[in-house]
Amino acid sequence: PSPVTAEVRPDDGDLDASLRPKCLDDFIGQPRVREQLHLVLQGATQRGGTPDHILLSGPPGLGKTSMAMIIAAELGSALRLTSGPALERAGDLAAMLSNLVEGDVLFIDEIHRIARPAEEMLYLAMEDFRVDVVVGKGPGATSIPLDVAPFTLVGATTRSGALTGPLRDRFGFTAHMDFYDPQELQRILTRSAGILGVRIDADAAAEIAGRSRGTPRIANRLLRRVRDYAEVRADGRVTLAVARAALDVYDVDELGLDRLDRAVLGALVRSFGGGPVGVSTLAVAVGEEPATVEEVCEPYLVRAGMIARTPRGRVATAAAWERLGLVPPPDLAV
Ligand code: ADP
Repeated sequence: PSPVTAEVRPDDGDLDASLRPKCLDDFIGQPRVREQLHLVLQGATQRGGTPDHILLSGPPGLGKTSMAMIIAAELGSALRLTSGPALERAGDLAAMLSNLVEGDVLFIDEIHRIARPAEEMLYLAMEDFRVDVVVGKGPGATSIPLDVAPFTLVGATTRSGALTGPLRDRFGFTAHMDFYDPQELQRILTRSAGILGVRIDADAAAEIAGRSRGTPRIANRLLRRVRDYAEVRADGRVTLAVARAALDVYDVDELGLDRLDRAVLGALVRSFGGGPVGVSTLAVAVGEEPATVEEVCEPYLVRAGMIARTPRGRVATAAAWERLGLVPPPDLAV
């Protein structure tokens, strides 16, 4: 497959494109990130140059791709999309870079997964707008320098800690996206319902927001499932009763915990006596990749007050024990 994906990953159904915020003012939540980005973009525009490279970090579904699209839109530039895993060979990246036009925004999703040779090529491109293309093999190999048009790289990562120092240092600005609070998710849901033509009561939107795991992608997905229920089992309008009944059918937790979150909590408490236990051990216990447990599950469980990180490992809090219907051990310190 080509490393260049012109379209957005269709991982959330065809409706996603219409639900994506189109400009900074449309983007709900993340007020600090919005303000910081506004300054970065406005400053560059006033100077008539391209903005510094931007790194967006945070768990999946919080709006990193949407934000990259907004950055390009605000700059009036084209957006080129690719991802770290797609850039396995440095040649793939060289081809993309040499096709850029001045002012373009190059979006690399999952940039922490970029292969080493491509990463090294990226250093030079980010710093000097230049690449060295190696032609031939062995002693006869020569390196041909090529100019790259000034561009802005927007990298997204669920794991900024996994980026190498040299790569991280070449970003002029890092935006940390955090989980959304229920009020923000409620506004996102109300906006999405408007776009989808779904009639929804405020208390129903609040109910869905509270169960969306702090994540707009999940909020939008739940909205579509609740809409199905409202259309099939009721008159199409999403009332509080309809929302609750629908969420019960889909087995959505009141706290928004998903199947994997619940499995991790269950293993931590039942198999490891509440911890402390290392992330990789926990991941093996639930049959998942350590990276998924660490980057997807854990941030939300910590945020929800269910898991504490200690120097000796992960520990279940009293709230986690109670949630599983168990009595926390009397000597529990967290
Ligand atoms: P990420 O790249 O971080 O995984 P996306 O940008 O793909 O996240 O966002 C997932 C979906 O959530 C988008 O399609 C969009 O509909 C919605 N979304 C994300 N952030 C917001 C926001 N701040 N306001 C409205 N919708 C949002």
